[in-house]
Amino acid sequence: MSTILYGDSVAKNIKQQLKEEIAMLMEQGKRIPHLVVLLVGNHPASVSYIRGKQKACQEIGMRSTLITLEEETTQEEVLAQIQALNHDEDVDGLLVQLPLPAHIDEKIVFEAIDPQKDVDGFHPYNMGRCMMGNTSIIPCTPKGVMKLLDTINYEDLSGKYAVVIGRSEIVGKPVGQLLLKRHATVTICHSKTKALKEIVKQADIVVVAVGKAKMITADWIKEGAVVIDVGINRHEEYGLCGDVDFESVLEKASYITPVPKGVGVMTVAMLLENTMECYKQRRG
Ligand code: NAD
Repeated sequence: MSTILYGDSVAKNIKQQLKEEIAMLMEQGKRIPHLVVLLVGNHPASVSYIRGKQKACQEIGMRSTLITLEEETTQEEVLAQIQALNHDEDVDGLLVQLPLPAHIDEKIVFEAIDPQKDVDGFHPYNMGRCMMGNTSIIPCTPKGVMKLLDTINYEDLSGKYAVVIGRSEIVGKPVGQLLLKRHATVTICHSKTKALKEIVKQADIVVVAVGKAKMITADWIKEGAVVIDVGINRHEEYGLCGDVDFESVLEKASYITPVPKGVGVMTVAMLLENTMECYKQRRG
């Protein structure tokens, strides 16, 4: 039977620390960190994610602003808005909520954000630094996954075999790099991987970021493996659930993250931490 790795208690501690830091800044009469979220259109999941992020800012006393642009806004207009925010001295962190409408190129948008304000860590400069082992601005979800591994003393993964399922720029690839930095032997799998189940069955650590409800069942998992479920799915039958069949895998893994209250809450806490990091870097 596994130990359930809840993210919410870890996230709560991180938020408490940040809250105290902000209270101190206020006491000293200093400017407080300011996060700006840019939303293009009104994707229902995005609206709900942004609400969660704003609530978290409010809880710790961090300033947050939401800028909403119409779905039809052109890429040039979005880039112009980003430029204005890049030059705004009062803004420390800038996040462009995904997904963007189809007519806007995500990669061009990421590259337009000032790397010093890039709280998501998606700018190629920050991604490159993450690949090179620098620990300043790391994408929020991968960073949250690593913090969860810290809680079970998985800082040094020498001799461990880690399998990441999913190769997205925002989750799978950076998670793979961060596991590698901890000396794990890493395989990153994806939709074109053959014999996926056989590969996963060998893993000591499995990180799943696919977006397919309950895809990973107990028969995929080696006895005693650590299973981190990044997936967030809203399924007709199962409701809100991860990519891992939690109930069955619970019997097999040594540790497993739940959905909700697992990686998702860590992502928000890491966003707050990255905003504070950007604030400090900008202030020198
Ligand atoms: P994505 O769609 O960009 O990437 C999905 C990856 O899964 C791709 O690399 C694809 O090759 C792979 N894949 C698809 N089908 C597969 C299959 N049958 N077998 C093996 N690999 C397969 O998704 P993403 O942005 O990386 O997100 C993945 C999941 O994580 C989604 O459910 C998303 O909602 C969730 N997510 C959660 C958080 C969080 O904070 N918890 C943050 C980001 C994403």
